[in-house]
Amino acid sequence: MNHPPTPNEGRISEIFSSLQGEGIRMGERHLFIRFEECHIHCGYCDELDKPARTMSLEEVLSEMLRIDQEDGPHSFVSLTGGEPLLYQAFLSPLLLRLKALGFGTYLETNGILWPALEAVIGWCDLIAMDLKPASVTKEKSFLAEHRRFLEIAKGKEVFIKIVLSKEIDVQEFQQLILLVREVASKTPVILQPVSASEEGHKDEELMQLLGELQRLARRMIPDVRILPRLHRILKIR
Ligand code: SF4
Repeated sequence: MNHPPTPNEGRISEIFSSLQGEGIRMGERHLFIRFEECHIHCGYCDELDKPARTMSLEEVLSEMLRIDQEDGPHSFVSLTGGEPLLYQAFLSPLLLRLKALGFGTYLETNGILWPALEAVIGWCDLIAMDLKPASVTKEKSFLAEHRRFLEIAKGKEVFIKIVLSKEIDVQEFQQLILLVREVASKTPVILQPVSASEEGHKDEELMQLLGELQRLARRMIPDVRILPRLHRILKIR
């Protein structure tokens, strides 16, 4: 990690108010705190080259409270990235303060760093976790880490997002859905078309494939939804 966090300092690329563009809380107004770095490199990632700065806990809180006064109320403070759980040393005191201030806390995570989740889950209200198919990310497989992560996360409100491209290996997809069935079968699973420069939902072939994958997954678990990224469709931040 280039800039390891401390309990009083973390690397933040942006703090802003916007619509939640993904998942089961899509369309709600959230206050986002975006952390800089991630420990993996998904081929389609569009979040890792944003400039960031070191901010103290008090600076983050005062910036947040200013934005909340201007644009609030916000349904949640959404901790996103990068990978927020990489910043566990900073995240723990931040979450504690957010809860003391009465905010709902929403953790957007790649669903891999389960020891860090275990340390902070007491202060998280909602967990949006990814399952990462290696055939799409071009990273290694994190099946074992995802399993442990979901076992811990299922004590809270949680949903799963799987970003899919036409390169998805259907067997790998089935393995991920099987994992959900075995660990927490009622967890909502969102299938999201991949997007980087061009939004995936515009690709008819990919959307047809997502329909087939949804049919396949719904034979194994009850709640499988296909959702695009709302903020990209509406062309807002
Ligand atoms: S896990 Fe998220 S932030 Fe990290 S590389 Fe993948 S898409 Fe980017």
